[in-house]
Amino acid sequence: MYKKVILPILILSAAHASADFSISLNFASGVEESYKSAFNDAASFWETQITGYRFDDINLQGINISANVATNDGVGGTLGSAGPTSGYVFNGIVLDGDASPSDVLYSTAGSMTFDSADVDNLIAAGSWETVIRHEMAHVIGFGTLWGFENGGTTYNDFYINGSGQYTGTAGLAAYQAEFDSGATYVPVELGGGDGTANGHWNEIDGGAGLTGITDGSGNDMANELMTGWLNSPSYVSNTTLGQFYDMGYSVIPEPSSILLVALFGSVGFWIRRQFLI
Ligand SMILES: [Zn+2]
Repeated sequence: MYKKVILPILILSAAHASADFSISLNFASGVEESYKSAFNDAASFWETQITGYRFDDINLQGINISANVATNDGVGGTLGSAGPTSGYVFNGIVLDGDASPSDVLYSTAGSMTFDSADVDNLIAAGSWETVIRHEMAHVIGFGTLWGFENGGTTYNDFYINGSGQYTGTAGLAAYQAEFDSGATYVPVELGGGDGTANGHWNEIDGGAGLTGITDGSGNDMANELMTGWLNSPSYVSNTTLGQFYDMGYSVIPEPSSILLVALFGSVGFWIRRQFLI
């Protein structure tokens, strides 16, 4: 099981000095040398998928992430947890596809913690980088900054806690194109308790079976990277990438492709990105 963590977020007001989206890693003492390459690979993965900011007049430069390995609940159970710790706000922005201005909150720093009892097993199973990618996505904002409320303002306003319904435009369009052409929302996990619920795509509780929701290549939603439980092999759907577009990031594939595919109801128009571990 994965847990997202909602941390107190420091809203920054000072401008950064460089450009593009990059992930900087700070390794805590518990992170052994043999663990580190997977962190760097996971960072490179997201830097490839997320190319920059759709709105940025101050040159945001990416995210600083603290990587930690610590004792938690022993073998199995919670593999890791992560979330943003600071962010930058743009108010009243009309993003492509938005019907009205919204408030965008970008993560600028965050923390990931992995259970030391699980790391060697994950490495042996070939899933270590997968789990890091998953937690890194939470730091970037997946499931942690949907409908985030702070000081009476709601940011990234496309998920209501407890609804189980993600309604971001690009994420939903990609989901319609990949998994369910008639969907009116992307199903969000409500099981697994605090931290797992409301922060992942939906699957069978406990990861205990296939969902029957498959893309054009037969990949079941249970194996998508951002469900609440690790299932191998995993892949990253365009629904997840579209979700980052909704959050204000430029992503690959380009969102016009996502929206175009939805418009014409085709699933074979582009190359989906699949990563078999
Ligand atoms: Zn998670």
